[in-house]
Amino acid sequence: MSTDFAARHIGTDGAAQRRMLDALGYDALDDLVGRAVPSAIHAAPPADSVIPPAASEDEALAELRALAGRNGSARSMIGLGYYDTHTPAVIQRNVLENPSWYTAYTPYQPEISQGRLEALINFQTMVTDLTGLATAGASMLDESTAVVEGMLVARRASKSRSSVFLVDADALPQTKALLAHRADAVGIELHEVEITADAAALPEAFGILIQYPGASGRVVDPSRAIAAVQERGGLVVVAADLLALTLLRSPGALGADVAAGTTQRFGVPMGFGGPHAGYLAVRAGLERQLPGRLVGVSVDAAGDPAYRLSLQTREQHIRREKATSNICTAQVLLAVMASMYAVYHGPDGLRRIAEVVAGRAALLAEWLIEAGAEVVHETFFDTLTVRVPGRADEVVATAHDRGYQLWRWDADTVGISVDETTTTTDLHVVAQAFGGPAQRAFGFAAGALSARHTDASLARDDEYLTHPVFNTHRSETAMMRYLKQLADRDYALDRGMIPLGSCTMKLNAATEMAAVSWPEVARVHPFAPADDVRGYLDLVDQLESWLAEVTGYDAVSLQPNAGSQGELAGLLAIRGYHRSRGDEARDVCLIPSSAHGTNAASAVLAGMRVIVVACDEAGNVDLDDLRAKIAAHADALAALMITYPSTHGVYEHDVLAITGAVHDAGGQVYVDGANLNALLGYARFGDLGGDVSHLNLHKTFAIPHGGGGPGVGPVAAKAHLAPFLPSHPLAQRAEHAGGFLFDGGPVSAAPYGSASILPISWAYVRMMGAAGLRAATGAAVLAANYVAARLRDHYPVLYAGEGGLVAHECILDLRPLRESTGITVDDVAKRLIDYGFHAPTMSFPVAGTLMVEPTESEDLAEIDRFVEAMVAIRAEADRVAAGDWPADDNPLVGAPHTAVSTVVGEWRHPYTREEAVYPVRSLVRTKYWPPVRRIDQAYGDRNLVCSCPPPDAFA
Ligand SMILES: *Cc1c(COP(=O)(O)O)cnc(C)c1O
Repeated sequence: MSTDFAARHIGTDGAAQRRMLDALGYDALDDLVGRAVPSAIHAAPPADSVIPPAASEDEALAELRALAGRNGSARSMIGLGYYDTHTPAVIQRNVLENPSWYTAYTPYQPEISQGRLEALINFQTMVTDLTGLATAGASMLDESTAVVEGMLVARRASKSRSSVFLVDADALPQTKALLAHRADAVGIELHEVEITADAAALPEAFGILIQYPGASGRVVDPSRAIAAVQERGGLVVVAADLLALTLLRSPGALGADVAAGTTQRFGVPMGFGGPHAGYLAVRAGLERQLPGRLVGVSVDAAGDPAYRLSLQTREQHIRREKATSNICTAQVLLAVMASMYAVYHGPDGLRRIAEVVAGRAALLAEWLIEAGAEVVHETFFDTLTVRVPGRADEVVATAHDRGYQLWRWDADTVGISVDETTTTTDLHVVAQAFGGPAQRAFGFAAGALSARHTDASLARDDEYLTHPVFNTHRSETAMMRYLKQLADRDYALDRGMIPLGSCTMKLNAATEMAAVSWPEVARVHPFAPADDVRGYLDLVDQLESWLAEVTGYDAVSLQPNAGSQGELAGLLAIRGYHRSRGDEARDVCLIPSSAHGTNAASAVLAGMRVIVVACDEAGNVDLDDLRAKIAAHADALAALMITYPSTHGVYEHDVLAITGAVHDAGGQVYVDGANLNALLGYARFGDLGGDVSHLNLHKTFAIPHGGGGPGVGPVAAKAHLAPFLPSHPLAQRAEHAGGFLFDGGPVSAAPYGSASILPISWAYVRMMGAAGLRAATGAAVLAANYVAARLRDHYPVLYAGEGGLVAHECILDLRPLRESTGITVDDVAKRLIDYGFHAPTMSFPVAGTLMVEPTESEDLAEIDRFVEAMVAIRAEADRVAAGDWPADDNPLVGAPHTAVSTVVGEWRHPYTREEAVYPVRSLVRTKYWPPVRRIDQAYGDRNLVCSCPPPDAFA
C-alpha cells in the first residue's frame, strides 16, 4: 500500500487545520499564508519543475537503493584521514539509529540533557587523555576545519607579531587547501616547511602545524621543531591520529600547545566524507581560546554535580563578531558514537586494535619489499608510501580491479592505509597488485614486526582512559544499559514537542534515516575514484538542482557542513566576486542587530568588518539607519546579511527596498536562509534580491539535530557568484548541476561535506514533492499563528507583520511578567520541564523573551498541550503576584523538580508536592523526570571542570 507521506509528515490533518483557521478567522490556509507573506514576493511554483511528483516511502527507498547500488564495492585503503571502521552494532542500533539520541537538540537546557552531556564529557576526556592536553571541546566539524581553528587559536594566543603560520609539508592535502583558503581571508601568510629539516632554519611564525603521523605515513619525532617554534613565541598545533596515539607519545608529552584531528575511525563510518566529529584540545591556560562548545561540571540547586555548557561567553551566540569562532552546530551525534567506541573498547581494546593495525601495516611492508617495491619510510603506524617508478597507475588499477582503492600520489608513488577492518587476505591481494607471489603462508607475529618500524623513543609510556567509565561497560548487556540510562535522562523529539524558535525541530522520518546505515552509503571514502561514487554524485546533482529551484538561485554547493560554514562560504564568494572586479576595498558587512550570532562571527572570518544596522520598533530593519550606514560606507560596502523572514519571526514588507538599496550601492545581499521553513513553496530568496544564501538542511530539510549536530549548510547563489562557491582539490568532478564550475577553495575537509546524511534531505524532498513542501510551509505558519493567537492574552506577542500575523515562529514577551510578578524567562523555561516540555528558544533574539516554533510536524493535541501548559504557568505566576506564594518559594523558581526532591525528606514548600510534579493530571502516566534540579550556571564557569568527574562526586 502506498500512503501519502506528506500526511505522515504534517501533524495537523484537514479537520485540525479547519479548527485552527477558525480560531484565527481565516477561510483557507492559502488566505492566511497569502496575507502573511508580502504579495510583492509571492512566487508561483514553476511550470517545468525539476522536482518530481511525490514518491511513496517504498518508492523513495527503492530509488535510493538503486542510487546507492551505483556506488562501487571496492574497499578503501586510501587513508588521508579517513579509515574504514567497525561500528559496534550496539552503538549503531542504540545511538546512530535511536531517535532518543539523534532527535535531541543542543544541550542549552542542561537539566533535560544530562545524558548527552555525560556522553560529551566522556568525549572530551577521551580526547584530552589521548592527546595529553588539558582541555578539549565537545566536537569540531572535521579534521581540516579543526586545524584551521587551531591556527586561529595560535594567532590569538601567540605573542609573536609575525603573520606567518608554518605548515608541515607532510600535512593532509585537504588540510593544506583549507588552510590556504581560510588564511588568505584573514591576512595570514602560510609557509610550507619540512619539519625534519634544520629547526634553526624555520622562519619566524606565530605558529606551526605538524601532522603526526604524516600524510605519507611517516612517524618522526617533532620535538626539535616544536621547541624551535615555541622559543620564538609561536604556538604548536599537532594534527594527530587518535588511534596512533594509543601507541605513540602524545602531542602534550611532546610539548604541543594544541592538538586537532578527527575521531572518525572510532566507529563512525567514512560516509563519503562525513559527518564525523573533529576534535580540538588545548594545553592549560588556553581554555578561554577554545572555539565551539565545551561541556563542564557544575552543581544543581540541591548541591549535586550536574553537567552544562561552559564558558559560553566565548561563543558566537553571545560574543558575536568577537567570538572565538563562528561554530554553532557541531557534530554531537558523531562525538557520542566515537566516545562510546572508547567506552566499549576501553584503553586495552583500543591499544589492541592499534597494535593489530600497526602489525598488519608492517606485514604489508615486508611483503611489498619482497615484491621489489620501495617502502619509503622506516617508521610508520598504519600508512605506507611505496615507490614503484613509472608503475603507480598500473598498480593502483590492478588493486582496484581486485577490489581495493589505493592512493596515487604521483606516477611513481602509491599510498596504502591499513585500518581495523583490513585482513591478511586483503594485504595479500594488495601485495599481489605490486607483483607479490600468488601463494604464501599467513602466520605472523604482529608485535615483533611492527617494532621494527617504530621509533622506540616515541613509544607511549603514560596511561590513558583510566576513568571507570572507560573500564566498566565491556559486555554488550552493560553497554546497552549504559546507553539506555543516558538516553532516559534526556528529552528529545521522541518524548514530545521541542518548540525551539529558529531551530525547526520537525520530524526526522525513519524512512529518511534508513540509507545512512547502508554500507554502500556508509563505507565510502571521500576521495574514492569517480567511478566508485556514481550514485553519490547523481544524488548530489539532483539535490543541488532541487534546492536551486526552491530558492530561486542558479547554483548550489553542498560542501559546507553546518549553517555557519555555509555563511562563511557565501561571504567568501562575495569577497571573491568583489576582488575579481578589482573592488578590493569592499570589506564592510552590514548586519541587523537582531541577526543570529553566527552572521557576525562568519563575516569576521571572511575578512570583513561588521557594521550593525538598527531595528525599528516593529522589529524590522530600520530603513533610515540602513540608508545612513550605506551612505557612510558606500565605497567599502561588501554585503548586507539579512535573515528572511527575520529572526523576529515576521515577513518584512520592505525587503525589496532593503535589498535594492544595497545593490544600488554596489553591495551584495546575503540572505540567511535558516528560516526557509516559513517560505518554501511560497517565495524564493532569489526573487527577494538575494545574491547568495545558506540553507540549513538540519532545520528545513529534515536532517535530525543529533543533540548539536551533524548539519549540512549548503550555499546557494546566483550565477555571477557561482565561480566563487566552494571547490575542492580532490573533488571527483569540477562540474555541478547546471554546468557550473566552482573555484572558491574548500570550506570543508571533504568535497561534498557531510555527504552520508544527504539521502535524508533527498528522501524528504522526494517524498513531499513540491506540493508537499508548500503544504508543510502552510502548516508550519498556521501552527505558529495559532499558538500566537491562543497565548496572546497571557503573554504579549512581541512582533507581528501584516494582519497581525507572524511567520513560522512567534516571540512571547515575558518582560512584563517579570515586572509584575518577578518570574523570569528562566523560571518559565524550567517550569515547562515539570509539565513535560522542552522550553522554546530563550532570550534570542530579544532578551527576556521566548521564541516558539511549533513546526508543521506537531499535531493539534500536542500544540494544545503546550498552549495549556503555558496558560497554566501564567496562572501560577499570577498566584505569586497575588501573594499566594512567596517570590522566592513557588513552583516556578523551584523548577524543575526531581523525583527525589519531592519524595525524600520533609516537604517544606508552600505549594504541594502534587503541584510540583503533577501540575496537570495527564502527566500521571507520561511523566518525564528530570535527573537534576536547576543548574547553577555561574558556578561551573568559576570552577571549571571539563573532564569526567570522579565517580564519588555522585555518591
Ligand atoms: C541555525 C541558524 C544559523 C546557524 O546554523 P548552524 O548550522 O547552527 O551553524 C544561522 N542563522 C540562523 C538564523 C539560524 O537560525
